[in-house]
Amino acid sequence: MNKKYSIYIHIPFCRTRCFYCDFNTFAGREGLIPDYVTALCSEILRQKPYANTPVHSVYFGGGTPSRLDVSDIQRIMAALKDTFELTPDAEITFEMNPCDVTADYAAALADMGINRVSLGMQSAVPKELKRMGRRHTYEQTAAAVDVLRSAGLRNVSLDLIYGYPEQTMENWQRSVAAAMKMDVQHISLYALSVEEGSALHRQLEMGKLTLPDEDLTVAMYEYAAQTLTSKAETVPQGLSQKDQIKRFEHYEISNWAVDKAHESRHNKQYWFVLPYYGFGAGAHGWINAQRIRNEGDIARYIQMVNASDERFPAAAEIIPQEKRVEMQDVMMLGLRMLHEGITEERFRNRFGEEMKTIFRRELRHLERKNLIRWDPDNRLLLAPDKVMVANQAFIEFVD
Ligand code: SF4
Repeated sequence: MNKKYSIYIHIPFCRTRCFYCDFNTFAGREGLIPDYVTALCSEILRQKPYANTPVHSVYFGGGTPSRLDVSDIQRIMAALKDTFELTPDAEITFEMNPCDVTADYAAALADMGINRVSLGMQSAVPKELKRMGRRHTYEQTAAAVDVLRSAGLRNVSLDLIYGYPEQTMENWQRSVAAAMKMDVQHISLYALSVEEGSALHRQLEMGKLTLPDEDLTVAMYEYAAQTLTSKAETVPQGLSQKDQIKRFEHYEISNWAVDKAHESRHNKQYWFVLPYYGFGAGAHGWINAQRIRNEGDIARYIQMVNASDERFPAAAEIIPQEKRVEMQDVMMLGLRMLHEGITEERFRNRFGEEMKTIFRRELRHLERKNLIRWDPDNRLLLAPDKVMVANQAFIEFVD
């Protein structure tokens, strides 16, 4: 089993709220940033006595990490390096809003050792971006990719959303084509999920917008899955032979990478159910078979860190993880990885028991429904035509 750890750092500040967002993030609380960064560094440094495992990935997520000044990020990076041994090849990802990308900011990130950027592109269609409440344009995303590249940040990921109200297949094809034309190494596709309490939920309740029907949403996913991985001789809708078109490997249900080296190491830590720290307001961690969830409110988070000298000063909840639940997580999340899946050997090395014995009944059900397959190396994988109904497989592993 991989003995290295990962770290997630939550930056809960956004200039404005996107209409669909229900993440733990706040607009108009920037006055708290200096105290927040101080508390965050203190929470990180608290791990010093226990930090004896190398860290091979760090992920700055949010919120909008690019709301921070360079000096704030430098302080956080210094706390990380002071506390943990980051491996020389550690993947350090920084989420950015495309309109925050400037040459100076990008150069400063590269200088600090940040080597991967995740950009929230979401769409290439102006009226869709407006409908989502995004602040940037498609042109800003395209320019951001070039600026990052010039600063030496050559591992860039784009997020796109499908299934958004009023989104048409034609517009979705435009967004997929636009993403494939950019010099990026990774693409994540997110199916819209409408969360109660979001502005979008209210817009839908009031009948101002309508969701595309489910068949169209499925068709959007299938179109993208096929197009992103298609062979070089096929030219996607909206592009021509003259365009430089990138092709991708579909390595996880919602994720594509140009090659294995550009798969997200950090996300794979989650899918392999391997340990990670979560620092910041509302962050989650998984350390020593315990699930740790931090307080989500920024002011309370700061107070808790300042008031306690505990190892996990901002924990709102610490739940010991039962072995059975961990095994179920390994199965559900492992099936998300379309080539790596779950091997009996890995399962046995981790739990000292046989996957086929522990989950005999579940695996029989899944085989009967043709939801899974075994590859020649005895690796359990989701059946290739069942990616859209993967939930039917996952549910077998829920008690
Ligand atoms: S930028 Fe991201 S975190 Fe911030 S409001 Fe928009 S979707 Fe939410």
